[in-house]
Amino acid sequence: MKIIKVETILISEKLQEPWVMGLGTATKRDELIVRIHTDEGISGIGSSYHGHTPHPIRSLIDTKLGPLLVGQNPLQIQTLWEKMFFGSIHLGSAAIQAIAGLDIALWDIMGKVTNQPIYKLLGGGDGSSDRGPLLASYVGCQTLGIKDLDTLVAEARSYVGQGFKAIKLRGGGGVNIDIAAVEATRAAVGSNIDIMIDVNARYSWSESVRLNRELMRFKTFWMEDPFDFTVAYHREEIGKLRGMGLTPIASGGNVFTRFDFKDLAQKGGVDYLTPDVVKSGGISEAIKIAAIASAYNIVIATHTYNGLTQIANLHFAAAIPAHIRGHVEWDPGKYNVFRDKLVKPAVKVKDGILEVPNGPGLGVELNEGILDELSFIEGPEILGVPRKRTWAAGT
Ligand SMILES: [Mg+2]
Repeated sequence: MKIIKVETILISEKLQEPWVMGLGTATKRDELIVRIHTDEGISGIGSSYHGHTPHPIRSLIDTKLGPLLVGQNPLQIQTLWEKMFFGSIHLGSAAIQAIAGLDIALWDIMGKVTNQPIYKLLGGGDGSSDRGPLLASYVGCQTLGIKDLDTLVAEARSYVGQGFKAIKLRGGGGVNIDIAAVEATRAAVGSNIDIMIDVNARYSWSESVRLNRELMRFKTFWMEDPFDFTVAYHREEIGKLRGMGLTPIASGGNVFTRFDFKDLAQKGGVDYLTPDVVKSGGISEAIKIAAIASAYNIVIATHTYNGLTQIANLHFAAAIPAHIRGHVEWDPGKYNVFRDKLVKPAVKVKDGILEVPNGPGLGVELNEGILDELSFIEGPEILGVPRKRTWAAGT
C-alpha cells in the first residue's frame, strides 16, 4: 500500500454572532482539512490547527510534508512521523501543527485497513462492543465569550439545562470583570457545576495572583492560561502560581510535542493539561504526552476546536489511561456548522456525555456535499487586541 496524493482543503464558517475573548474577537472559524489518498482506494482525513493563519500551514503540507509522504507505506506511522518531524525541525510549532493533521489522517487509514476505530487500535475503550466509549465533557470551545452578565448567565443556565456539568467562561478582559463573571455564574448555576475560566494569557504576575486567589471564593474548578505559554517563556511563573496551591491551573492547549511538555512539566507543571491533537503533533504524539502526564500525575483535559478536530480529540481521550482522563472540551453552542454538518455521523451527546464514534478509523466521513458551501473567507479569524494595562473603572 502506497500514498499517492496528499490533499489540503481550507474552509470557513461565518459566525452568527461574534465571539469575544481576551485574545480578541472572532467573526469566523476556519478549518484546514488534510486528506491522504492511497493506491488501494482507501483515504484518510485529518485536521491541522493553523494558529489563525492557515495559508502558511497549508503551504507546509503542500510543498514540504506532503511530498515526503508520497510513495510511502501509510501504515508505518511512527516512521513517517519521524521523517516529517526531523524533515521540518527548523520550522517550529507551525510544522508540528501541519504534521498533526497528516498523522491523524494516517491513523484514519490504519483504522479503515484494520476495520477498527482509532481508540481501539490504541488499546482504549470501556468494554462496550456495540457503541463507542462515553466521555464527560465540559462546555468550552467557541462558547461563553465575554459579554454582559445577564446574557452570560442566561447562556450558562441553558447549558446546565441541557445536562452539562462543567462550563468554561472566557476571561482576560480585566480582573474585576472576570471575578464578576464567575461570581454571577456561580450564583446562577449552583454549587454542583464545575466552572472554569480561560484568561488567554492576558495578565501580569500580580494580576494573575490576585485573580487566582479571588477565584477560590467561588470554588472555581480551574483558571486557564494565566501567562503566555506558546514559546516556552513564563513557564516558571505558571509553575510558581500552581505551587501556591490556590485555584488549580490549566494550560497546555499550545504544547507542541512531548519535548515541549517535558519542559512545562519540569518547570512546575499544571494541574490540568489541555493538549489538542491538532496542535501537539497528532494522535501519535498526544499519546506520548499523556504518558508523561501520567508519570507526573497530571490530569488531561483535551483542548479542542472545530468539527474534525473534536472527533480526533475524542479518540485520543478514549485511549489514554483512565486515571488521568479529565473532562473533554466540547462546543454545544447554538450554531456550529463544522460540528453539525461537516462530518457524518454527528457525535451523539446526552446530558453532557459524548459518545466516541465507533466506526473504522475516526468513525466519520467528510460530508462532501457541504464543502462548496464552506468556501474559505479571506482575512484574520480573530481580530486581535494588543496586551495592555487598563485603568478603566470596573476592570
Ligand atoms: Mg484556552
